[in-house]
Amino acid sequence: TPWCATVLTLFPDMFPGPLGVSLAGRALAGGLWALEARDIRTSATDKHRSVDDTPAGGGPGMVLRADVLAAAIDAADAAPDRPRLLMSPRGRPLTQAQVVELAAGPGPLIVCGRFEGIDQRVIEARGLEEVSIGDYVLSGGEIAAMALIDACVRLLPGVMGKQASGTEESFSEGLLEYPQYTRPQEFEGRQIPEILISGDHAKVAAWRLAQSETLTQARRPDLWARRGGQKAAPRRTKN
Ligand code: SAM
Repeated sequence: TPWCATVLTLFPDMFPGPLGVSLAGRALAGGLWALEARDIRTSATDKHRSVDDTPAGGGPGMVLRADVLAAAIDAADAAPDRPRLLMSPRGRPLTQAQVVELAAGPGPLIVCGRFEGIDQRVIEARGLEEVSIGDYVLSGGEIAAMALIDACVRLLPGVMGKQASGTEESFSEGLLEYPQYTRPQEFEGRQIPEILISGDHAKVAAWRLAQSETLTQARRPDLWARRGGQKAAPRRTKN
């Protein structure tokens, strides 16, 4: 069975959405991965099909009910070994390392929150791991889930044309990617850096590494510090 993402949402019509086009969409159509969007509302039990209620303790908005969401999770989860994620601004920030790990597994079950969030008790009772896609607040978990799924799908075997493009890009070495160029050689008076058309692979590699390091140091001091804050010694090339 292919890698499968099961998404629990109040808006299943949002899927596959952007995941249905381009790289991910072709791979989905080709059976390289599977997507199951399940409507949380079908697990509502009262006659109004209500999924939310007012927050205990007061405050604005509504909270997704624990009993309804637990029933939706139980109905969805055939394989209990799958990671169970909850998209949440409170979660651990998603990293490329976690994406690689998720892509190597059977595929996650992903709960998309709405409103003010979901009842804490279902997070605990069903062992949901909270995952954030950044320090800002979306109106729902669906777009966050799509971001996570997209990042995983492009790493699945056979999805990307050239296997190398998955390993040599931003974050794979704890560095941001170097600048890319393509034809034409001159654009509005700007040239492609000469070293890139020199044909000297060792020099190209050294130039790219230096660019990556400079960018990472300037833009992402957090990544840079984690890497030890050291630029690689210039590599010696024969000639
Ligand atoms: N009251 C919540 C808080 O302050 O943490 C925000 C709830 S938000 C309006 C509704 C839902 O959107 C969340 O339950 C979550 O599923 C999703 N969401 C919002 N921002 C997110 C982010 N940065 N990463 C992942 N999911 C997010």
